[in-house]
Amino acid sequence: MPAATDPSPDGLTQSGSTAPPDLVLAAWKPLRPAFAGLRDALTAAEQRLNNAHEETSMDPWRRVAAAAGDQQAGLSALNGLLATVLSGLRLIHHDDGECRVALVPHAHVQPGELAAAQALALLVEAGGWTRVGRCTHRGCSRVFTDITSGGNRRTCPVHQRG
Ligand SMILES: [Zn+2]
Repeated sequence: MPAATDPSPDGLTQSGSTAPPDLVLAAWKPLRPAFAGLRDALTAAEQRLNNAHEETSMDPWRRVAAAAGDQQAGLSALNGLLATVLSGLRLIHHDDGECRVALVPHAHVQPGELAAAQALALLVEAGGWTRVGRCTHRGCSRVFTDITSGGNRRTCPVHQRG
């Protein structure tokens, strides 16, 4: 008799899939990365989020951008983005001679796109969806990522000063 399964132990659902989250990943504790280490990839993510309006409505970055400020929609959109860009996991030989787990993008994914999506997911994992915001400056609606220690930014980098 198999043990009873909880279809959504953490409250997250995988849109379009009835498969439960992988147990190894579900048990993984967030690494609490130094956000500064994500800066370059998050800058690339911001560029994709803010250029998404020029793309087609099927652009998964556009869905993520549209969900800024809405955690439930945001997690669904981010999971959709990850499904679009991530092909799978592979073990690779790293330059230091050690074996490492690597995320492998789909063939159509542009260079840096998977890293940008991954950084966004790591930021949200460690800091919550409130780390993805929309600028409150009058006339500006840019989406930004917040890597401040307090996590209380309200404006994009352009309107951060003055
Ligand atoms: Zn702004």
